[in-house]
Amino acid sequence: MATSLRNEAKLKAYGRQPRKCDVPVNEQGRYLKVSQYYGENVYNFHLSKNLSQEDKESLNQVLNGKRNIDKPLATKVANSVMDWAISKGATHFCHWFQPLTGATAEKHDAFLSFDNDRPLEVLSASQLMQGEPDASSFPNGGSRATFEARGYTTWDLTSPIFIRESVNGKTLVIPTAFVSYHGDALDTKTPLLRSDLKVAEEVLKFCHLAGDKTIQRVFTTCGAEQEYFLIDKAFFFSRQDLVMTGRALMGSLSSRNQQLEDHYFGMIEDRVLAYMQEVEIELYKMGIPAKTRHNEVAPGQFELAPIFKDANTAADSNQMVMTVLRTVALKHDFVCLLHEKPFAGVNGSGKHLNWSMATDTGLNLLEPTHNPHENYRFLAVVATVVEAFFRHADVIRMGIASHGNDHRLGANEAPPSIMSVFLGETLTKILDSMISGGKYTPDMKKAMDLGARQLADLFKDNTDRNRTSSFAFTGNKFEFRACGSSASIAYPLSILNAAVADVFAETNALIEKDLAAGKSIDEALISVTMKWYNNAKAVVFNGDGYSEEWVHEAARRGLSNNRTTPEAISVFKDAKKISFLTKTGVFREGEIKTRANVMLERYIKCREIEFRTLAAMVHKQVMPCAISYKSELSEGIRKVKDAGGDISVETDILKKLGDVTKQLADKIETLMSSYDKYHHSLNEDGVADKVAKELMPLSVDIANLCNRVEELVPEDNWPLPKYYDMLFIR
Ligand code: ADP
Ligand code: MG
Repeated sequence: MATSLRNEAKLKAYGRQPRKCDVPVNEQGRYLKVSQYYGENVYNFHLSKNLSQEDKESLNQVLNGKRNIDKPLATKVANSVMDWAISKGATHFCHWFQPLTGATAEKHDAFLSFDNDRPLEVLSASQLMQGEPDASSFPNGGSRATFEARGYTTWDLTSPIFIRESVNGKTLVIPTAFVSYHGDALDTKTPLLRSDLKVAEEVLKFCHLAGDKTIQRVFTTCGAEQEYFLIDKAFFFSRQDLVMTGRALMGSLSSRNQQLEDHYFGMIEDRVLAYMQEVEIELYKMGIPAKTRHNEVAPGQFELAPIFKDANTAADSNQMVMTVLRTVALKHDFVCLLHEKPFAGVNGSGKHLNWSMATDTGLNLLEPTHNPHENYRFLAVVATVVEAFFRHADVIRMGIASHGNDHRLGANEAPPSIMSVFLGETLTKILDSMISGGKYTPDMKKAMDLGARQLADLFKDNTDRNRTSSFAFTGNKFEFRACGSSASIAYPLSILNAAVADVFAETNALIEKDLAAGKSIDEALISVTMKWYNNAKAVVFNGDGYSEEWVHEAARRGLSNNRTTPEAISVFKDAKKISFLTKTGVFREGEIKTRANVMLERYIKCREIEFRTLAAMVHKQVMPCAISYKSELSEGIRKVKDAGGDISVETDILKKLGDVTKQLADKIETLMSSYDKYHHSLNEDGVADKVAKELMPLSVDIANLCNRVEELVPEDNWPLPKYYDMLFIR
């Protein structure tokens, strides 16, 4: 019975064809260039006919933080937005926000309203600007009693409003922040916005001190590379672990996985390419610039990378990227798995946050420029960021902690849970020679000053890349590679920004002091660069971050290695370590408590769901399979014996199966009874600790026993789609 289900799933998957979607065309049926329809579903007030030149000017000022939006202007904008949305066929609007679930939330309302009995469309200023979802049903970490469960969504003017198309209609999506009655952030966006402002303030000051007074605005930038798996829908729904937990809790590795390294950048199969193309068309219409697509390392694993934007828009876009990846997958009879580790034994998925700081004058502050003077500024920026990553490493590690990411960070893949910075040979040599007081001698054997004109060219020539570092300098930006594939990027970005802003405040103070003492700005920049680099050198590691030696070396250097979520989030108990989050104003005291609680609670709940799902699969699928094959074998053995045949092989299998089944029965019983015991006798910290240290390893043992059963029973007896089915049939 179960087996026929698996075969049916296979037959379905074998028979799939690439899906054709509606590619945007003109009236003559010719394909449009992407540039002709890019952003067609994004509201652009500059193009609005309802708004006067003066209104647009005022809106510009609002966007640049120079004034607040008032009711009359908001009303005009609401009308303009609604007219545009209706003309595009939208019937509803929604406030779209990012609660602490890591996902997004949306509540739709129709434009439909009534003027007496006459139906008409309305979007009022207050509907545009504020919503009031019931906050009590979102994770709040115990921060609010239900009687004050009111939460507000407020329009984020800096992130574009857009229309999302679905099969039978269109919805206007208004990006919003989500805050409590008392103004506490209940989402990931609000702290990110605050952190961006804080970086802007400190780094703008820094730029001015460094001599560039033309700069008026600084902002952080981010390009988030997104990794994901695709498996056929038929397999997904026949595995309750995938449905319930997002990952295969058991599964025997197929003989060929990623050993041949032939999937990475390999040819993209038609069915997958058709999927990627439809994803991109949807994203382009919504103004999300998908740029790169390719096969990733593991079979069935892929990546999408957009062109970078300001961090806030990038964070919103990444949420939409994940949504589109998921929804379009279903249309292609795929399921897109965003879990960090859907399949043990092959690579997991991460999200690489390419991060930098940019100015309104078009500068990238992490660009090693040709101008010697700017080189000192560049080096000071790098050194400040390195110090920030060093000083706040534990909190930054906490920002990427999740049960899913534990499978990557704690294992020998993906950047490890040790937070380190890769600077590359060139930059390390420059900084090293700076603190040793010498001159930097580049490989071309021509001595030159530290702030050499050749700096930029050198980086171009030295495109050394390190894929094993958590935070790698990649020519003109840092790449934070340790973030989980399913996570909201807003949270780690807000922590990274807070860390950087914190140290920049000190950088500025040091420079001011030096300038007041009569030093030149170059001298001041060199001095601060040396100070930070000297102090933070231990975090710089250019070697193989996946190696066992690094683990020991890092320990010698005194760097933390928080392998699991409970360890990583214990930093919340260290008031000194987390104080910069409040000092910079990125988080409020209560918000930090909320996050600590939510992260702990989520860790336990997600693991509990995994354990319960594992138990259900063991009891309802694996054990029955083993037991029925045992009885099949016994019967066979009896018959063969009666006939005087050799029964040694059958007996051996029967015995092995018996051993495995017995162990399985014992261990699953221990897992569940221990969990229940801890759950009733310990506080949440205690439970989380037991789960991470004791129950997780036990669940891995159980998975391995299940895999033994899978290996011992005949192909047709095994009830679940196998790795082979999921990873190779497309
Ligand atoms: P990789 O070597 O990892 O493939 P790419 O050069 O293709 O790197 O860029 C990866 C990502 O980095 C892209 O999303 C790109 O837009 C982004 N990126 C490039 N420059 C910056 C920057 N200054 N700030 C933030 N992200 C950037
Ligand atoms: Mg990359």
